[in-house]
Amino acid sequence: MMPAPCILYKQGVSGDLQTVAQKGLGKVADLFFANDLDLIVTSIREGNHMPGSLHYIGLAFDFRKGPFRKADIEAVLSPPWQVIEEADHWHCEHDDACQT
Ligand SMILES: [Zn+2]
Repeated sequence: MMPAPCILYKQGVSGDLQTVAQKGLGKVADLFFANDLDLIVTSIREGNHMPGSLHYIGLAFDFRKGPFRKADIEAVLSPPWQVIEEADHWHCEHDDACQT
């Protein structure tokens, strides 16, 4: 029997997401779950990110790539979400663009 897929957090991941980002994470989770995959979150607020990164204010999260292409992720996270492909994870941030 297959266990139901779930959201897993890499050891050391900490911090919370703002409500809008939580909803985005939920959408990504639904995509993974629909494919019977666990969603493995690799970073929220902890870790080293660029100065001014949206990670620090709970508007960005990273997760293991899985079998998906950028277009698959963008299909569930439409703008103002930005999906950025990194070497070993997807970086997703809710960028309202008016934070200058
Ligand atoms: Zn990131």
